[in-house]
Amino acid sequence: MTYYVGIDVGSTTSKAVVLSDDGGVAAYSILRNSYNLAESGRKAFQMALDKKGLSDSDIAYIVATGYGRRTIDFQNEVEPEVICHARGTTKLIPTCRTIIDIGGQDSKVIELDEKGVRKFQMNDKCAAGTGRYLDKLAKGILEIEVEQLGELSLKSSSPISISSQCTVFAESEIITYLSRSEPVENIASGMHYSLARRVIQMGKAANIRFEKDIVFSGGVARNTGMVKAIEDLLGEQVIVPEEPQLTAALGVALMAMERCRNRQQAGG
Ligand code: ADP
Repeated sequence: MTYYVGIDVGSTTSKAVVLSDDGGVAAYSILRNSYNLAESGRKAFQMALDKKGLSDSDIAYIVATGYGRRTIDFQNEVEPEVICHARGTTKLIPTCRTIIDIGGQDSKVIELDEKGVRKFQMNDKCAAGTGRYLDKLAKGILEIEVEQLGELSLKSSSPISISSQCTVFAESEIITYLSRSEPVENIASGMHYSLARRVIQMGKAANIRFEKDIVFSGGVARNTGMVKAIEDLLGEQVIVPEEPQLTAALGVALMAMERCRNRQQAGG
């Protein structure tokens, strides 16, 4: 049996997807990165192989994507992220026309048509438009785990309004609300709307139309409060894949399979 692997070395997590010859997912892994991205990428790869009892020699082709794609040295090729997101997401949801992906340190909005990516906009400069915003405020100010933030925020019927454009100033604003005994669920909810608004505005500024079907991916899509905030602000339902962090790794695994077969056909 021949296997192909896609690896997405993100800024916060590394993901690997192993495809079998029939294009089915044989195994996958999601691993929180250490400071050493190369090591994390290798570990994610190894974890996925271990799940299926495979060794390096079972793998015919490896393609890597993500922020840290060039830190690892065992891949055959690298691919930019946006194309991999598009490929993986449309494999899962062929009717997808818009991808909103929010990861640990970047966010992207991608517009698709039948042929692929039409346009995209990305933020990897400002923490306030990424998962880091929620991570930092949840742990640093509200003293809860980010995984609890979504459920908490859903209890709110009156989200606070956060006007600051930057995480540091948002922190001061939230501390002021806390000192006035504002219920914590209203603060959590306000944080989600603030992040959702920023990501949607980024897309609209690039003339992205947010056409249906809209898929929300990345680790932040696991947060039910963020799903609600995005749906409320867009006035549309979004689709969250079962494993929202894996879409780019799936896309790049499909490319690994295709590249390997093309090479074999070309006799290379
Ligand atoms: P990247 O690809 O940029 O490395 P991911 O797409 O894996 O990042 O997303 C990581 C982000 O997702 C982090 O900010 C993390 O807090 C958030 N996240 C992951 N799982 C959850 C969860 N269960 N609930 C809320 N946030 C989550």
